[in-house]
Parts: sequence; structure tokens; C-alpha cells
Amino acid sequence: MKSSAAPCCANSDASAPRGRIFNIQRFSLHDGPGIRTVVFLQGCPLRCVWCANPEGIGGPADVHCPDGPQRRAGETRGVAEVHRQVMADEAYYRTSGGGVTLSGGEMAQQPDFARALLAACRRDGVHTAVETSGFASWSALRRACEFSQLVLYDLKLADAARHRRYTGVSLRPIVRNLQRLLAGDIPVRIRIPAIPQVNDGPAQARAMMELIHALTRHSASFAGIELLPYHSFGVNKYTQLGLPYRYAEMHPGAGPADTGELERAARGFGMGAATLAHCIG
Ligand code: SF4
Repeated sequence: MKSSAAPCCANSDASAPRGRIFNIQRFSLHDGPGIRTVVFLQGCPLRCVWCANPEGIGGPADVHCPDGPQRRAGETRGVAEVHRQVMADEAYYRTSGGGVTLSGGEMAQQPDFARALLAACRRDGVHTAVETSGFASWSALRRACEFSQLVLYDLKLADAARHRRYTGVSLRPIVRNLQRLLAGDIPVRIRIPAIPQVNDGPAQARAMMELIHALTRHSASFAGIELLPYHSFGVNKYTQLGLPYRYAEMHPGAGPADTGELERAARGFGMGAATLAHCIG
């Protein structure tokens, strides 16, 4: 995929697409280079049993936040309005080499909004990134990524049956879209949430790194692997939303995340894997 030049002007809110957003998080240090603002787009076709953001999967929902009172998660907003909000931290982006990251949910579910917001950021010289599960039509994913300068691509499992069991969807389109992105010119960093008893054992770790090695060895766009240790910060949200937390039901008493096997397996295939201190889901 070839990235395009940013357009000369952002659309007015009247003509620009609107996006459904459930959170905007400032001062993120884990979702691309420098200090970043992460815009979380609502809606996701996956149903990962460990998902830390259940309010971001479906429609609007009431949740309590650690940093504030109960709020309604999920609102529809225009490109110009969100662009204005994220540009409030422009000085931090410039001094740190940071920028804006679109995450979710799955941001490729809203490709026109994602494209327009990232184009507006690029116009202002702000670095842009997306985080995606890769589960989308290629046309939607390509459109959503068009003005992104970095793709953070989540891979959960390399085993097709386990992938469907734990995420509810097929692995095949995710791998196919990753191949297409790796053939393009946008840097692609692969992210693996390390989930205890799901993908952190020796067999799953090896299968994952074998798959990544096969997909990336001839790609000039491959920009490394990041491991995101599981956390249980999202558990209370399930209680508030009246939803079962399926991960705890499937693996009661699972211990803390262990990234050791994934790191060792990556080294075994001649690759590195950096472990981040904080997992976003
Ligand atoms: S963890 Fe990410 S991909 Fe999985 S259901 Fe949650 S938002 Fe979707």
C-alpha cells in the first residue's frame, strides 16, 4: 500500500464523516513514538474473552472510569471537533516526536472518519498511527490507514481453532490483511497481548513467532514486535455493564502474564520482541 500526500485542507464538519468515539486518552506513551493522544473508536467485530474495553465493542454504554464519575461511553462527533481536541497537545507532540493514534474497538470499522481525522493531523505535521485487529475488509482497512505513518497490528493467536474460540472470528482475513500491509510502505509493528494460559505457553509462542517470521522476513515495512502483558483493569466494567467476564470463567485463577516464552521464541527465529509495561487489551 502506498501512502498518499495529505490533502491541503480539512473538511468542514458539515461535509466530513462523523465518528463514534468512546474515549480520548491524552499523554499515552505506549501507542507509537513520543507522547500521544489515543482516540478510541467504538465498535469491534471481535469478542476477545479478555477484552479490557467492553464499552468499546458495541453501542453506547454507561461505565465508571478510574479517573472520574460514571459517564456515557460512545458519542458521535465530527472530524473538526475531534481534530481541535487532539491538537490541544500539539506542543507535546512536537517536543517528544509524538502524535495521534487511532485505536478502538476496531478503527477500520469507521474508515472514512479515520481517514479524514488522520489526514487533518498530517496536514498539521503531526505524526499519525493506527492500532488495528486487522479484521476488516481490505478496502476498509486500506482506506482507514491511508494517512497513517505507523500501523500497530494486533495478533492474538497463530492457531486458527484457538483464535476463533477466544476471539470469535477467523484468523484468515487477519493474516491476509497483514500480508498486504507488509507489502506496502507504511511501517507495521506487530503487537501481541500476552494472555496467561491462552498464548503464553511454549507451543503457542513458537507457533506465533513462526507465523510472524514467515510473514515478515521479506518485508521492508516490518517494524518489530511488541508484547503487551495482560492486565485485569477492565474487569469492573463487565460488572457495571452486566456482562460475564468470559476470560475468568474459562481460566479461573490464571496467574500473571508471562512474556518469557514469547520473547524466547522470537529470539529463536532471529527476531526481537519488546515487552511494554502496560497492556491496552
Ligand atoms: S480486545 Fe480489541 S480486538 Fe478484542 S474485542 Fe476488545 S477491542 Fe476488539
